[in-house]
Amino acid sequence: MEVLVLVAIFLVIVVAVVVPSSKKGKRKCPRCTEWVKSEALKCRFCGFDFPASAPLPLRSDARKS
Ligand SMILES: [Zn+2]
Repeated sequence: MEVLVLVAIFLVIVVAVVVPSSKKGKRKCPRCTEWVKSEALKCRFCGFDFPASAPLPLRSDARKS
């Protein structure tokens, strides 16, 4: 039992740490769906211009508008 609990906790920690960190400081380009730096104003893949103050367009648009 203890081993299973430890394995479960370990997996949760791995998922919680590894998965978000791979996307940390990045945002998804709405046009080409590639991950670019959150500081970027233009997508380096397709040239899409990001709105300067909208790191997460899906959420901020739903609330502000
Ligand atoms: Zn793009």
